[in-house]
Amino acid sequence: GVRHEPTSKIVLDLERLYDEVSEDLAYVARYARAIQQQRGDYNGRVLSIRADDLRALAIVYDASPSGLIERLTEHGVLVADPRAFFAS
Ligand code: C2E
Ligand code: C2E
Ligand code: C2E
Repeated sequence: GVRHEPTSKIVLDLERLYDEVSEDLAYVARYARAIQQQRGDYNGRVLSIRADDLRALAIVYDASPSGLIERLTEHGVLVADPRAFFAS
């Protein structure tokens, strides 16, 4: 069958993502805005995204899903634990 890379829930820090001036994450930011629109989810500080959408985005970046996660981590736009994020 198809092999899937193990993935935990992908949660984006929207404030950091939208403040990020680097061109590197321009597509991720555009995608996140589109998902917010589709969900009508405008007031969140974070956004959980589908594993499927991460896979599609990774193709745009010519990376593997885990490669893109690494890149997002380097830019500091991933939230490891949203509940801890709100507690702090
Ligand atoms: P849909 O895929 O037919 O999903 C309909 C509703 O089912 C969604 O309404 C949401 O309430 C729920 N739903 C579907 N999948 C999930 C899930 O994995 N987790 C949770 N918590 N709920 C889920 P919603 O959020 O208003 O979205 C409306 C439509 O917008 C969706 O219809 C889909 O076509 C699109 N959409 C929303 N978010 C995403 C996304 O992250 N990626 C993609 N590809 N499409 C999205
Ligand atoms: P919250 O909205 O109070 O949700 C608390 C927990 O309830 C979530 O923890 C999750 O385990 C569950 N939960 C809430 N809504 C759904 C849902 O639609 N589907 C499922 N399956 N579970 C749900 P989690 O995921 O660790 O999120 C913690 C907090 O992070 C959330 O608190 C919310 O404030 C925020 N958050 C996470 N993802 C999103 C997002 O895509 N949009 C927004 N606006 N906030 C998010
Ligand atoms: P979650 O709500 O905790 O859902 C976890 C996983 O359960 C999803 O991973 C998906 O594989 C499955 N799932 C939950 N609800 C549905 C559903 O209505 N239809 C289908 N086909 N599968 C469902 P996934 O797709 O990687 O999504 C990760 C997280 O992204 C979700 O966690 C949720 O927080 C968010 N999300 C994804 N799609 C939507 C959506 O359409 N609307 C909203 N509001 N949130 C979404």
